[in-house]
Amino acid sequence: MTDIKRRDFFKLMGGAAGLALAGCAGAPMVSSTGEMMPKTGRRVVVIGGGYGGTIAAKYVRMSDPSIEVVLVEKSKQFVSCPFSNLVIGGSYQIGDITIGYDKLASNHGVKVVHQEVTGIDAGAKKVVTAGGTLSYDRLIVSPGIGFRFEELEGYDPKATPSAMPHAWKAGEQTTILRRQLEAMKDGGTAIIAVPTTPYRCPPGPYERASQMAWYFKQAKPKSKIIILDANPDVTSKGALFKKGWDKHYKGMIEFRGNNKVVKVDHKKMAVDTGVEEIKGDVVNVIPPQRAADIAIKAGLVGEDKKWCPVDATTFESTIAKGIHVIGDACIAGAMPKSGYSANSEAKVCALNVVALMNGKEPIPLSGINTCYSFLTDKEAVSVAAVYKVDGGKIVSVKGAGGVSPDLSTLEAQYARSWIKNILVEMST
Ligand SMILES: Cc1cc2nc3c(=O)[nH]c(=O)nc-3n(C[C@H](O)[C@H](O)[C@H](O)COP(=O)(O)OP(=O)(O)OC[C@H]3O[C@@H](n4cnc5c(N)ncnc54)[C@H](O)[C@@H]3O)c2cc1C
Repeated sequence: MTDIKRRDFFKLMGGAAGLALAGCAGAPMVSSTGEMMPKTGRRVVVIGGGYGGTIAAKYVRMSDPSIEVVLVEKSKQFVSCPFSNLVIGGSYQIGDITIGYDKLASNHGVKVVHQEVTGIDAGAKKVVTAGGTLSYDRLIVSPGIGFRFEELEGYDPKATPSAMPHAWKAGEQTTILRRQLEAMKDGGTAIIAVPTTPYRCPPGPYERASQMAWYFKQAKPKSKIIILDANPDVTSKGALFKKGWDKHYKGMIEFRGNNKVVKVDHKKMAVDTGVEEIKGDVVNVIPPQRAADIAIKAGLVGEDKKWCPVDATTFESTIAKGIHVIGDACIAGAMPKSGYSANSEAKVCALNVVALMNGKEPIPLSGINTCYSFLTDKEAVSVAAVYKVDGGKIVSVKGAGGVSPDLSTLEAQYARSWIKNILVEMST
């Protein structure tokens, strides 16, 4: 590349990055080395502006404002998976669970860059995006999940999700699934295929079945839902879900355990368990999961090639020094892959990143999780737990938490308050 061409190239990259950057005074400068925002002091870069990343970015800034924080998120807005099942059921709208990033910038000085991270150079301590590179002193990675599409015969990652939406990343997929339910005839069959654990949000598929049934009961009462579960039984709050299905949707939801879908055919709208082919009018195939692509690409996953092993107190990768992984992508012992877990991990991780950067001892982990699930639009159930580190592993604290005693409208109120609070915490 000639000097002039190189200059033009970096000018272009600067322009593109400038358009994509929120919360910085003026457009970022791309240096002659391709650096998007040359570092002037200590810097933490956070990848992923979801349940884990927004909180980690904010808490690093709150605990040490002398550290610059750059949050790199590919989308301009974040759509929450929690409560997306209620959008599918029809009692919430997608706008109710969508947040932006402006206030993280204006209230906390987090520099938000809207780019997709395509690589991490752990040796040079840089993340790579199409708009240029970003240097860091420590990196926090919270990119969520990716899918193991290759384990489903016949699955075409481009075509299958439009015909058989997974809706396991909220947004467009959620809307497609809702529209398909609206278009389905009364007396139709909806299939939900549940993958083997671990997957994001253990009770999520059963809440989804409940929300579909709630909609069918009002709009298409002759319809049916078949849950084909790769696991032997309902993996979370099983007794409460079954009680709710019996109370509200008798005969409408059929649960089939040990029925792992191994093959799909979106043209025929059929799934195959290896024993039987079943056709549906709406087919919600939730593929088996792993850490998001960037974690795989950066070599942060362990021997299982699926999830990222981390230190249980600092969430520093046991594979790459200076890189911390939180949220669904990491292996957090007994903590489930949930938004509340990601929020809790993000706080401990942020405080420990600041401690390590200031030469202080890390604080011990105190983790928390509560997962609410709606059976109707008004009744919900919950499971809660508290976590600590024991023998280097995250374990649940005995006697703390448990499941709610019954279906209740009070739990639904707590749940609505929870989503409101957590989304405000993430976006202000
Ligand atoms: C249907 C459903 C219902 C759920 N209900 C609940 C619930 O009630 N309660 C609960 O606690 N949890 C719930 N969850 C689980 C919760 O959504 C996840 O556990 C949580 O989102 C994990 O947070 P995270 O930060 O790991 O990932 P995410 O919140 O998914 O955030 C990841 C972010 O990283 C970005 N990203 C990824 N790769 C890149 C890249 N290369 N460059 C730039 N940006 C990137 C993505 O765009 C995304 O914004 C539910 C999940 C589903 C599917």
